Amino acid sequence: MQYPEPITQLIASYMKLPGIGQKSATRLAFYTLGMDEEDVTGFAQALIAAKRDLQFCSICGNITENDPCIICQDTSRDQTTVLVVEQSKDVMSMENTHEYHGLYHVLHGVLSPLNGQGPDDINITSLVTRLQDHSDISEVIVATNANSEGEATAMYLARLLKPAGIKVTRLAHGLAVGSDIDYADEMTLIKAVEGRTEL
Ligand SMILES: [Zn+2]
Repeated sequence: MQYPEPITQLIASYMKLPGIGQKSATRLAFYTLGMDEEDVTGFAQALIAAKRDLQFCSICGNITENDPCIICQDTSRDQTTVLVVEQSKDVMSMENTHEYHGLYHVLHGVLSPLNGQGPDDINITSLVTRLQDHSDISEVIVATNANSEGEATAMYLARLLKPAGIKVTRLAHGLAVGSDIDYADEMTLIKAVEGRTEL
């Protein structure tokens, strides 16, 4: 016996989310059926609005309602330092420390040869262009996660940017190996930035 088409569709939609298999998707679909109509409508509208009203900043790649984003537009920030992160949510983690006042660049991924993800598949070209266009930038802090792909990405960026006279640093490993920066607490992040080392 098959589920009616609308629930089959809903299960298929949930299965597009990361880490959600058939079983979880089925559970979520039936849970959704049991929700208030108002909540379901709000949920659907939030999905559409997030996709429709947000874009990527043409300078740093962070998600934003307006391009350029408020961080890139803020001339009171330190214009000499760019902190490179894997995901937009890492920008939020760093901003929540209130201790970093420079600029950001969001890669939207890391180098991952095993998954066929090379330099052209992440937001690196725009970083190079940015450094060429803005001679104020003297340091790039690589804040990719402390795992093998994050390290490989940091080494790649160091090799790419150092010949251009840019100082390339890496967060100190107050962050345990394998840890993600969005799980690190604020004090650990502040220490990791303060104790950064040159690559
Ligand atoms: Zn920006």
